Amino acid sequence: MAKFVEDAGDDRLERLTRALFHETGVDGVYARTGLYEGVVEALAALISTYRPKGAEILRFPPVMSRKQLERHGYLKSFPNLLGCVSCLSGSERQIRGVVDRFEAGEAEWTDELDAADLVLAPAACYPVYPLVAERGPVPAHGLVFDVACDCFRREPSRDIDRFQSFRMREYVCIGAPDQIRAFREDWIGRAKGLADRLGLSYRVDVASDPFFGRVGQLASQMQLENELKFELLVPVKSEEAPTACMSFNYHKDHFGEVWGLHTENGDLAHTCCVAFGMDRLTVALFATHGTDVEAWPTPVREALRV
Ligand code: ATP
Ligand code: ZN
Ligand code: MG
Repeated sequence: MAKFVEDAGDDRLERLTRALFHETGVDGVYARTGLYEGVVEALAALISTYRPKGAEILRFPPVMSRKQLERHGYLKSFPNLLGCVSCLSGSERQIRGVVDRFEAGEAEWTDELDAADLVLAPAACYPVYPLVAERGPVPAHGLVFDVACDCFRREPSRDIDRFQSFRMREYVCIGAPDQIRAFREDWIGRAKGLADRLGLSYRVDVASDPFFGRVGQLASQMQLENELKFELLVPVKSEEAPTACMSFNYHKDHFGEVWGLHTENGDLAHTCCVAFGMDRLTVALFATHGTDVEAWPTPVREALRV
């Protein structure tokens, strides 16, 4: 099944990259072909068929409130990955002056940028928690959301499975600890079923986030020990270094505490999210089944309706 076994090495991945993407001059930022986008769309539709009952759909823009992300504590965890929107500000005369000096080759216009109140969204679920907190206590049956957005992370790479700009879809659950644990357990099973239908080989393993710096290493260790993160890993590049295509994240009461999210009985709400890396799953499909979609196994084509 897996094409990479027959056709090992970097050539295979380079050919795949050329078939699916066009370069834009920046590593990890690609123009996507119709061939590729057709499968992204089909996959999104298939994932929608797994949408939990009663889930509220929200689609977020690729930018979000800087203040909100600061309050989430993102800067403590991943300051190296964050992108901030910055713009020229001031009077027309001041802005014109900056541009003129740039055009004359005298100064960089970028030296004059001011940080705006926006950051590039690093994950899809961040805006959900403050939004829910505004609505009051979380009902006894808990809440589920279907969210998505284009994400940015400053991790430039030539690898086919690591982009700076990529799409993330998430099912987010907010409620009591036992509800959250059940949701995540249930979803690890469902995700395996989804990967089976897609004809992907995979394993699910406990994982950690690459928290920044030396203190971050302790946080990663804690995350592993408490089994807060699992990933569904697919051998896209190799069996030894498989690619995380989905992740299952239990945040305990972190977001509950930050946003004052409570359940009806007054306890802090717990949260978890199931994240689908839309680009990674799509790349995994092409890496596994080849670039001729019409030659993909029939059950996979039926599942995706391609
Ligand atoms: P990795 O360990 O590979 O960096 P991650 O733990 O940072 O992944 P999450 O933060 O859990 O990933 O993000 C959810 C999903 O988004 C991942 O499972 C993956 O499918 C996708 N994803 C994360 N980073 C990237 C990236 N740079 N390019 C493409 N997809 C990504
Ligand atoms: Zn999330
Ligand atoms: Mg990462």
